[in-house]
Amino acid sequence: MKRGACVPGCARRAETAEREAGKPWVRQSLGRGFGQRFRQGKCLPVLGLLLLAWCLSAQLSAQKLYAPDRVGQGRILQSFIYPVRNSDSVEFTLLNSQGKVVARSRGFLLNYERGTLVKKLDGRMKDWVTVGLLGITSTQESGNYILRATIAKKKSRSQLLERPIYIRKHEFPGETIKVSAKMNSVLNPKDPDLIARQRTQSNELWAILKNDNPEYLFYNGALLRPLEDGQGRTSSAYGYVRKYVYPGGKTVNSVHKGYDIAAAQGIHILASGDGLVVMAKDRIVTGKTVMIAVLPGIFLKYQHMSVISVTEGSSVKRGDLIGEVGRTGFATGNHVHTELWVSARRVDPSLYFNEPLIDTNRIISMIAAN
Ligand SMILES: [Zn+2]
Repeated sequence: MKRGACVPGCARRAETAEREAGKPWVRQSLGRGFGQRFRQGKCLPVLGLLLLAWCLSAQLSAQKLYAPDRVGQGRILQSFIYPVRNSDSVEFTLLNSQGKVVARSRGFLLNYERGTLVKKLDGRMKDWVTVGLLGITSTQESGNYILRATIAKKKSRSQLLERPIYIRKHEFPGETIKVSAKMNSVLNPKDPDLIARQRTQSNELWAILKNDNPEYLFYNGALLRPLEDGQGRTSSAYGYVRKYVYPGGKTVNSVHKGYDIAAAQGIHILASGDGLVVMAKDRIVTGKTVMIAVLPGIFLKYQHMSVISVTEGSSVKRGDLIGEVGRTGFATGNHVHTELWVSARRVDPSLYFNEPLIDTNRIISMIAAN
């Protein structure tokens, strides 16, 4: 950087020379002084530095926010910034037409120097990509939104990139569920101890969901259906609008934010992707529950197990046994309820049984096309 100071130095010396010669100081005089030094070859290193600085600034100004124009309800909005520096930190937000933030997530570097993502990208891209994944729930209103990326830089002002996104409507069916007295006591406990325990469990869950550790880069491929092929049947799809009918006739509408497969007790439940077990415990409403972190801010959750086969803090691979089907907690029968959490919102896990959580080939082709 010290040598970079030569430019104003050259200019100042040229100005001083002109002034000392009694000539009026005009911009031209700078050009003549510089030109003379240029002809003498004295400013060539400076030109090299200028060219380098220009290249760097051109590269940064070319930073672009990539995202699809449309995304359906119940899906992951995949977006990314390219190129970025590894010191840049990016926050992705989705704003509605009133400018209200409806989803938020911290971006993470895709070609981080470990994990499976690097192997896919290695050798094909020289720069860094920051990915932002936002969960679009089934109840997010369809219409026009703005995706905003705020890039905070270490040595310069932060930068905003925006693009419009349209959320497509998807029709979700409905069903009615009769709530038994036993289920009612789980859903609406009167015991103060039970209420306090539920609150503690809810706080524990949210502490996990807010952990978007950028080093959680375990898996970005398609999810495995949690029961082996041919086992179980879909008993309730994601997004169902459920009307609960309570004893006494009271009704409450609730949206099913998971994907249910009914199967006999004891059928093996398999990990849908590689990851870190961040929860393995018996909970009041969700019963025996396992949560797996697969990416920063992205979690898989399996509920109502009869047996948990993993421990908190252990690593699992896609297809590993994590538990057995049961009906613990608030359940109307033996089934596994699977959730996919993205930016603290639930999306449809079954949509990702056949497509990857992050489509790295698409990222590479989108970058190559620009
Ligand atoms: Zn369910």
